[in-house]
Amino acid sequence: MTPSKIIRSKRKTLSLTINENAELVVRAPKRLSIEKIQDFINEKEKWILNKTKLIEDQLKNAAINSNRLLYLGSLFPIIIKQSESNEITFNGEEFIANLIDSESLSLAIRKWYKQKFREIAIPRVAYFCNKHNLKINQIRIKCQKTMWGSCSSKNNINLNYLLVMAPMSVIDYVIVHELVHTIHRNHSANFWKSVESIMPDYKEQKQWLKLNGYRLRRV
Ligand SMILES: [Zn+2]
Repeated sequence: MTPSKIIRSKRKTLSLTINENAELVVRAPKRLSIEKIQDFINEKEKWILNKTKLIEDQLKNAAINSNRLLYLGSLFPIIIKQSESNEITFNGEEFIANLIDSESLSLAIRKWYKQKFREIAIPRVAYFCNKHNLKINQIRIKCQKTMWGSCSSKNNINLNYLLVMAPMSVIDYVIVHELVHTIHRNHSANFWKSVESIMPDYKEQKQWLKLNGYRLRRV
């Protein structure tokens, strides 16, 4: 097994990662010999094979689902029609994308997702704030590459609109998680206790995100 990429730097240890395209990337100290690197790779072969297969399967699933859109945890077909303007509508069973050209699809989907997420998430934030007597400053809906949500020291809540693809209970979990950060600014035992008091089954939602999060990033 040979790595697709060896990145050498001032680091002292070797590390192996499988990137988004299922390629093996090695990070190594500047002067470590290729033989030593190869030994390390051979030692970790089982892990590499498992991880590569997992990512390859994920890539395959994403390709199969490309003519369907995820919305609130379910996949719906998307029908593309030629039009003079870009607009996406959803009738409860399927999406209709009226597009000037096929290159507009991704942008149009993102626009629809963002709008829909705003409609869904803002009332949920208000609901949890009222019910649990929590106070926030502002809600910002954006697309953060690596985060589902965040809470600033000024209690501004940021939520990632790609969450609109996740089931409602998962959206609620991210909202509750960020709202609890207005009380606990860390992930201490007390933080998780508070999350659990609001959402007793939060571990299920957290696990869903961990397993399915990558599906929400393929738009
Ligand atoms: Zn957190």
